[in-house]
Amino acid sequence: MSADPLLQETLIKRSQQKKRTSPLNYKERVFVLTKTRLTYYEGKPEKKFKRGSVELSRIKCVEIVKIGGGNIPCQNKYPFQVVYDTNTLYVFAPSQKSRTLWVLMLKNEIQHNAGVLLKFHPQFWLEGLWLCCRQAGKQAPGCEEYNLLGDISRKPLPPIPEQENTRRPRPPPVPQDEDEEDDEEEEQEEEVVVALYDFPGMEPHDLKLVCGGEYVILEKCDVNWFRARNEYGEEGYIPSNYVTEKTSGNLVEFAWYSKGVNRNMAEELLRKEDKEGAFIVRDSSHPSTYTVSLYTKAGSGEGGPMIKHYHIKETQCTPKKFYLAEKHLFSSIPELIEYHSHNGAGLAARLRYPVGKQDKSGPSTAGFSYEMWEINPSELTFMKELGSGQYGQVRLGMWRSQHKVAIKAIKEGAMYEEDFIEEAKLMMKLSHPKLVQLYGVCSQQRPIYIVTEFMQQGCMVNYLRQRRGSFSLGSLLDMCLDVCEGMEYLEANSFIHRDLAARNCLMNDAMVVKVSDFGMARYVLDNQYTSTKGAKFPVKWSPPEVFNYCKFSSKSDVWSYGVLMWEVFTEGQMPFDQSLNHEVVAMVTNGHRLFRPKMATAALYDIMQLCWNNRPEERPSFSELCLKLSDVLEDDGFSSS
Ligand code: ADP
Repeated sequence: MSADPLLQETLIKRSQQKKRTSPLNYKERVFVLTKTRLTYYEGKPEKKFKRGSVELSRIKCVEIVKIGGGNIPCQNKYPFQVVYDTNTLYVFAPSQKSRTLWVLMLKNEIQHNAGVLLKFHPQFWLEGLWLCCRQAGKQAPGCEEYNLLGDISRKPLPPIPEQENTRRPRPPPVPQDEDEEDDEEEEQEEEVVVALYDFPGMEPHDLKLVCGGEYVILEKCDVNWFRARNEYGEEGYIPSNYVTEKTSGNLVEFAWYSKGVNRNMAEELLRKEDKEGAFIVRDSSHPSTYTVSLYTKAGSGEGGPMIKHYHIKETQCTPKKFYLAEKHLFSSIPELIEYHSHNGAGLAARLRYPVGKQDKSGPSTAGFSYEMWEINPSELTFMKELGSGQYGQVRLGMWRSQHKVAIKAIKEGAMYEEDFIEEAKLMMKLSHPKLVQLYGVCSQQRPIYIVTEFMQQGCMVNYLRQRRGSFSLGSLLDMCLDVCEGMEYLEANSFIHRDLAARNCLMNDAMVVKVSDFGMARYVLDNQYTSTKGAKFPVKWSPPEVFNYCKFSSKSDVWSYGVLMWEVFTEGQMPFDQSLNHEVVAMVTNGHRLFRPKMATAALYDIMQLCWNNRPEERPSFSELCLKLSDVLEDDGFSSS
């Protein structure tokens, strides 16, 4: 009777944040709606476990979630929300049609509930904020009127999907014990991770990590810091980007797999090694797929050694199989690599010699330790001057005599210091390999210091100008892709840069470009910089909605990114260098755009022009831009040398 499923489908569920800052997970779950409950299961219909269940009588609101320009970090792009008690469940449907069906069916079932909301939040709760109204309390009252019945009465309910629809998983049998009170939240089992790098531990409350060691996660305190236990029972904080989940499908533990290496980097590493059969397995430009890059001197004729890139293909059937050559199928990638290390079987050579990334030192951590944003100035030593900018002088320094850092001393009257110090705590949580990491501040003294990751090669625009004529197309494209990845992360975190330009990107010794000074424009105390009419306002990097109405968004960052691409492909030229700011405003308003740099191919110039669409909403997102650039990079003919 009441257990008969009204609707069932595999959807993606966002984990509920028990703690304000615990990381979000997106997991596939089989959702089943009955007359009394919405239940979700882990696994496949044949083998599944109940993970949670919500009584329909407790639901107060079901509605689609407005995305508001942000990025959806899972493959299902149609979110809806189910508000019950004091919780909100976010569920992601694979299509608009599926979402409409779920929302309408649920609304229909709850329409007589007593506690239906009058107001709700149309956007996500993320990192301690409602994105719609920026209120910081999870229980903050809704900011938009909730119209439960309006939608139901406007649209007739679509029919319940036919059973013969084979794409829909069969309903898992509803458990007998209907009244069983299941924990809404997931996973009782211990989560084990493997350390990718050594971590010495900076404070007594940290736990030391040894590369390759296994650790049990006790608590995800924050996106960037976990509490963990080692094999001796010692507990402490560890940086989350130093460990990886221990799962059978994870390649990170294999010497031949290099995470974060793209086609150009793979070619460079293989050439440096110069060994017959040297190979790297790397991520393909398309998510969750892999490529084998192989170096061979054999049969290359007068052309010299060559590098081949083989996409690891997967069969459509279940269980899926992996292959390089269609005749040889394997259940896992390690088995495939093992086989081809003994048998060329159609490859240009055997996979003889695995080449790893040379840089084994760990990435930057979000602060030196968990919840440590105030840095003791007596632990800093100052070295040479690196440059100076809007806020004052930047110097190379050391923290605790062993970690190189850049230290910005903020000159008096240059910054809204109190506001910045408050924001710095949030900015420190932004942590990504393509962002210059903020380590902390010395805020108890004047001048205040901002301590960041040190980038040995300094500012990208100078780097480009000083080496004009020496860049391959591939290496310029790599730089653009680095910036795009950093910006994709900011976009996903709804963080707007506001002053993206080549001068605000820095390079390190590994030639990795990272985005710097994100969000810092908001704290500048200088009218010439902050007023759109001021001489220092970055008009040449600004879209019309910014120079006309100061309307900043991730899409205005996208416009600036197009200009940054132009700077890269002109090897550091000044955009519109013959024109004054007010002339640029007139030209751009009339549809004039920067010319195609000689080094940019038509495909690359097309990408720039997409960024310079007058309508912000028609510009691509950074995640779309990353895919487009990776596609260009994967095309033959783009090589770093
Ligand atoms: P401001 O924010 O005050 O305008 P910038 O961030 O532009 O200052 O820094 C000025 C210069 O200092 C840069 O152009 C660069 O040469 C150098 N610099 C700044 N930060 C770093 C860093 N993290 N690593 C290396 N050099 C840096």
